[in-house]
Amino acid sequence: MVDVKSICCIGAGYVGGPTCAVIAYKCHNIKVTIVDLNQARIDAWNSDKLPIYEPGLEEVVFDRRGKNLFFTTDVDAAIEEADLIFVSVNTPTKKTGMGAGMAADLAYIEGATRRIAEVATRSKIVVEKSTVPCRTAESMRTILEANSTGSIHFDILSNPEFLAEGTAIKDLLNPDRVLIGALQTPEGISAQKSLAAVYQNWVPEDRVITTNLWSSELSKLAANALLAQRISSINALSAICEATGADVDEVAYACGRDSRLGSKFLKASVGFGGSCFQKDILNLVYLSQQLNLPEVADYWQQVVIMNEYQKKRFVRKIISTLFNTITNKRIAVLGFAFKKDTGDTRESAAITLIKDFIDENAHVAIYDPKVEHEQIYMDLAEPGVVDNRKQLEKSISICGDAYEACKGADAVVIVTEWDEFKSDQLDYQRIYDNMHKPAFLFDGRLLLDAAQIREIGFKVHIIGKNELA
Ligand code: NAD
Repeated sequence: MVDVKSICCIGAGYVGGPTCAVIAYKCHNIKVTIVDLNQARIDAWNSDKLPIYEPGLEEVVFDRRGKNLFFTTDVDAAIEEADLIFVSVNTPTKKTGMGAGMAADLAYIEGATRRIAEVATRSKIVVEKSTVPCRTAESMRTILEANSTGSIHFDILSNPEFLAEGTAIKDLLNPDRVLIGALQTPEGISAQKSLAAVYQNWVPEDRVITTNLWSSELSKLAANALLAQRISSINALSAICEATGADVDEVAYACGRDSRLGSKFLKASVGFGGSCFQKDILNLVYLSQQLNLPEVADYWQQVVIMNEYQKKRFVRKIISTLFNTITNKRIAVLGFAFKKDTGDTRESAAITLIKDFIDENAHVAIYDPKVEHEQIYMDLAEPGVVDNRKQLEKSISICGDAYEACKGADAVVIVTEWDEFKSDQLDYQRIYDNMHKPAFLFDGRLLLDAAQIREIGFKVHIIGKNELA
């Protein structure tokens, strides 16, 4: 077993940054160096304005930075110094080529693995932190072994990350479980114990789960697929609720009281977003296809299909309610991040919705408390369209607060469940007074009390609720 004194994390993103900052915070005797090829990102980690927003992150980073926590682009030096290396690089869905739109692009995993093989002059424990298709560790081992000399040995572990953006620090400080997979050889089990010992500095022993490598890799895909499946299930039920007079909150509550089901992840919405759910399910779908299991692939694919349907259904409802046209109407979109308490917009439902509104010739006024304006332009840009920025500027305005966005609007659409959009924090009477009449409000996050908002004068549609009930 190795007494880990120095850790390197390759990839200073939403996972690598917070995860390894928390290790440094909890293990003062371990030197943690987080590296990235992206100079701007590393500069931001070394500045007062961190590159990502997460509640509690600044406290952790500012407490340990410069003491036992370092951010650098000097990848090779950090690899060389480390006893244990986390690979926490991006694994996006392939955009082009075979498997485009489905398979995980493992180029960054391979790049980081090759770098470790080339640079290391002594044995290392290499840990997959990224979410990867099942058996990726085998490819990593082949690359590492082919490039290592006789005296250097690499152990590969799988340690997928289960943090949720928006609660990352809370999740990391108090995880439901930490999963460590290893080859069931004496060396593999010894490496597994070395990493477990790091986590046991703050995670109770019974929450550290050890499994074989492949179970660990698959468990991450499975966990995300199961979570997304619950969202798609309640969203499918929300459509039935709207058509029948059942109330999706009441249905979720009634079902969630069954201890076999539990109440979490039964909140209907405009659809899930984020960089992981869709990508990881598609990854599972692709894996099933490769394993010649088409029925299994179809089963998981349906979760993504339902998610897309929910977004389109919401847009259709908005257009039909606004007398079948939103041409030249002002639509205020509250929220652009894929969920509250993060500035992350990857796969956010807001992007799909706003693009649809623009296609229908509406003017969209957008407000989000944490997303940078430039990010919004980047997310809405259509690749390859000449003068796209100028066109976009005609179709959207990015506003400094919710009141500005809603001023003169025909409809307000709540897309992200930020607390500041709740009725006790936002003055909906003021919003109503400054809107075109009739004033419509569409709540894609079940944030508001319909009766209270109708009282003001709004015409309200809330996902999963029947207006006539
Ligand atoms: P990210 O894109 O925010 O960060 C990845 C970073 O890796 C980038 O900054 C990139 O520049 C860097 N990188 C790529 N190749 C490199 C190399 N060879 N050397 C140095 N740096 C390199 O991605 P993320 O959101 O942190 O996700 C990382 C992994 O964790 C993915 O596999 C993802 O599926 C998984 N994951 C993400 C979340 C989440 O909530 N974001 C949660 C659990 C797991």
